[in-house]
Amino acid sequence: DSNGSSAASESFVKMPTIKFTKLFINGEFVDSISGKTFETIDPRTGEVITRVAEGDKEDVDLAVKAARAAFDHGPWPRLPGAERGAIMLKFADLIDEHTEELAKLDTVDAGKLFGFGKAVDIPQVAHMVRYYAGAADKIHGEVLKMSRELQGYTLLEPIGVVGHIIPWNFPSSLLFAKVAPTLAAGCTMVVKPAEQTPLSALYYAHLAKLAGVPDGVLNVITGFGKTAGAAVTHHMDIDKVSFTGSTDVGREVMQAAAKSNLKAVSLELGGKSPLLIFDDADVDKAADLALLGILYNKGEICVASSRVFVQEGIYDELVKKLQLKAKDWVVGDPFDPNVRQGPQVDKKQFEKILTYIEHGKREGATLLTGGKPVGKKGYYIEPTVFTDVKDDMLIAKDEIFGPVMSLMKFKTIEEGIARANNTKYGLAAGIVTKNIDVANTVSRSIRAGIIWINCYFAFDRDCPYGGYKMSGFGRDFGMQGLHKYLHTKSVVTPIYNSPW
Ligand code: NAD
Repeated sequence: DSNGSSAASESFVKMPTIKFTKLFINGEFVDSISGKTFETIDPRTGEVITRVAEGDKEDVDLAVKAARAAFDHGPWPRLPGAERGAIMLKFADLIDEHTEELAKLDTVDAGKLFGFGKAVDIPQVAHMVRYYAGAADKIHGEVLKMSRELQGYTLLEPIGVVGHIIPWNFPSSLLFAKVAPTLAAGCTMVVKPAEQTPLSALYYAHLAKLAGVPDGVLNVITGFGKTAGAAVTHHMDIDKVSFTGSTDVGREVMQAAAKSNLKAVSLELGGKSPLLIFDDADVDKAADLALLGILYNKGEICVASSRVFVQEGIYDELVKKLQLKAKDWVVGDPFDPNVRQGPQVDKKQFEKILTYIEHGKREGATLLTGGKPVGKKGYYIEPTVFTDVKDDMLIAKDEIFGPVMSLMKFKTIEEGIARANNTKYGLAAGIVTKNIDVANTVSRSIRAGIIWINCYFAFDRDCPYGGYKMSGFGRDFGMQGLHKYLHTKSVVTPIYNSPW
């Protein structure tokens, strides 16, 4: 095959030392009460990396007890913001000191590119902690302009004990999009990492302790969704749950919150994001962007540009470019610096993606390139592009969460907007054009939480993102990502004989 000549090649294997495999509760690594453990698998080979403690309801109960005590009686919420910020800065420095080890863990656990993790993902995590550390002493309410003789002001208070449920596609970045603002807000928390990728979260918990985050503030319960995850969402003493994952589970999270203590909920869910490429685009650059939009992180990214709409004038040329460029996209061992795409996270995702590809073929879409597994070992899939895709085909409607692009042709701006919006999701969208009027019209017409014009995946810690429609609600990153962990309390006193 053209890709993947180095799939799972032994010469690049640099297994990290696995130091932490137990639950982290009240500042200690402990076994699960049941004593059970589960395997975490290396998607490059399908082999077991190690066994990790399997937390369940009783373990979540202990973690919540610790988090509750740390919130109700501990120093963390009561510290001046600057002191919380100082501990967070130390935490960020420790993350920087362990970049390589952390990047390795995410590579063996999730199949993510090691070079990228080391150069970008993990350093960005440290910066995320610094960003929110800088906000920790700037959390304040407002003085209100009351309509009668009353003095009113608001206090912003930490929301309490927070439950975080994390997916496997960005085990570090998505963890810190939640943990960093929660720390700054003065909350305490119980984190449930994805069962596919439990290793780095435990390592970060260790670093948090070294940095001086008090015991009970950050607890990590590794385990499965239906057990440990559900224990978090159903818990009567968790004040808020912040979930990132699939739309189906998001629905269960809301139901659990409704059935238990009506805890606050925020949901970052799935997507089927459109990329609209207009006739005036530089075709070569547009093709690069379209490929990056679907192949980055092997398509396992909620904002992937899985629906690419190309205006008819450049459609044929763009198809040719995509075909050529997709062949140069190297699939293989994510430790290999020349590789651009590692293995899918696990066997289940691998098989799900291949099933969608078969479906696309059966539905009558044309397979322009890819469509097959790469190599005999591990969960590698070729970069796959379908043309002649119809809006109502399954591959154009469902989130595949893999390296599979659906390419579609459109004529007018109005048609492009209408078809881009014809989805139950609304996470992101991309626009490629040199025409500012087209860019403005389209960006205001698409119902999605982030719009990238002539770029894609341009994330920034100061730039909020999250869903419209069934992609969820609530925003991560930016100051909105902090405010979701704060309550607003209004305080009112009468004033007499005010001169104003
Ligand atoms: P998933 O929803 O099955 O799992 C995500 C997390 O939820 C895991 O930690 C899992 O253990 C936990 N979980 C599973 N069932 C649960 C339950 N009943 N109660 C409580 N917790 C439960 O998601 P997945 O399929 O593993 O991940 C891929 C999905 O995540 C995709 O649909 C993708 O779009 C979405 N995602 C969204 C974003 C975003 O920011 N919007 C980011 C990454 C991934």
